[in-house]
Amino acid sequence: MLIDRPAATTGDDLLDLFPEGSHLDGRGHLRVGGCSLAEVAERFGTPALVVDETALRNRARDYRDALGRHWPNSQTVFASKSFPCTEVVRTLVEEGLGVDVAGGGELVTALAAGADPEHIVMHGNAKTDEELAMAVAAGVGTVVIDNLRDLERLEKLVTDGRQAVLLRVIPEVDADTHAAMMTGHRGSKFGLTADQAAEAAARVRRSPRLRLDGLHVHVGSQLMETAPFRRAVEAVAALPGLGRHPVYDLGGGLGVRYTYTDRPPTIEEYVKALTDAARDHLPGDARLIVEPGRSLVGPTAVTLYRVVTVKPGGHRPLVAVDGGMADNLEPMLYGQRFEATLVDRVGGGEACDLVGRHCESGDTLIRDVPLSSPRAGDIVAVPATGAYCHSLANNYNGARRPPVVFCRDGEAWEAVRRETYADMLRRDTRAGHPRALPFLLADA
Ligand SMILES: *Cc1c(COP(=O)(O)O)cnc(C)c1O
Repeated sequence: MLIDRPAATTGDDLLDLFPEGSHLDGRGHLRVGGCSLAEVAERFGTPALVVDETALRNRARDYRDALGRHWPNSQTVFASKSFPCTEVVRTLVEEGLGVDVAGGGELVTALAAGADPEHIVMHGNAKTDEELAMAVAAGVGTVVIDNLRDLERLEKLVTDGRQAVLLRVIPEVDADTHAAMMTGHRGSKFGLTADQAAEAAARVRRSPRLRLDGLHVHVGSQLMETAPFRRAVEAVAALPGLGRHPVYDLGGGLGVRYTYTDRPPTIEEYVKALTDAARDHLPGDARLIVEPGRSLVGPTAVTLYRVVTVKPGGHRPLVAVDGGMADNLEPMLYGQRFEATLVDRVGGGEACDLVGRHCESGDTLIRDVPLSSPRAGDIVAVPATGAYCHSLANNYNGARRPPVVFCRDGEAWEAVRRETYADMLRRDTRAGHPRALPFLLADA
């Protein structure tokens, strides 16, 4: 359920939730990546997902530098499901990151972005035959084995050389996060139990077509403490019959700041905790991989909406915008709380409920959020929407999925254009009536 706003807020706190470097210009208008959000909304329309490229690069560098300092033999791999868009992937690849893909669609996106297949890691608890074949054909560097059937099928597909694999194990660590974001608990649908992992390791060692590089573990997402990460490392090291490995992939899961009271560990604190645990429990010459998604991209983007109407409401004014659960499912899936502001009257104001345009009462984006005298036509910015918003976007109520607009040093460009009505009808093989035509043409 949605959590009520916990604390009063000041303008400075609010800016802290936006990508670093965001500021108010002389007119008091909010700027991200040097661009006025009001102007971005005018030029590209709303809703729009706006990425600050410099902030994105800096997050990537924070990961790379922290890991490089604490454990030089290491690699940061972007969990692309959190923001699968070629401009994001290309930017992160330029910063030296590898790419995690779950299945064929993310693999194609990573390849289209120019990622080196050798530095792609393929995941999935139910990879299809087609997806495994794609991984082999593309030369994906590492395939993560989730179950014993993955092994059988992969072995038949590899025709020359040896495919490197990691075994995903269930660490039986209950992370303190929303149940839908726990992935390493006992009974998880992801990964091998200790017994299965031992059997899988024995099978890979006998296989002439596979090479066992190591183990993989991922305990969950939006974790606000380092303890579960440490416990996961301990659990992996304690697995019986698996021995020592050259590679340990410790997954992702670091939480980000959505609200004023959120205090996630910094990237530095997280990496230090992880590598301290690795020093205590894993071979000193092992290669460590981390796979951040949310903590890499989440704080680097902002969603812009336009207010369509304001109603008195029961408890608070209802401010209805032109987006909602078709572009941000996090409040509905996980009860995630966000904050918001008008872009030209930043901070302060009276408590409102920010609601979406969709035909569900659950389509409430933020309950009890202060907005400064909101009226129809105003632009609202919701920070920290870089993770799992673009990827979970959908066409509910015929919503055209929003564009991804990149901003850097005052320049803005569309990395993904807004979906059109024609895009939406493209797969509908029976859509031919000319009455729709004027609207399709107008929207082209
Ligand atoms: C989702 C996922 C990640 C990234 O998780 P975040 O919480 O976004 O950092 C990393 N590894 C695997 C295997 C995942 O499924």
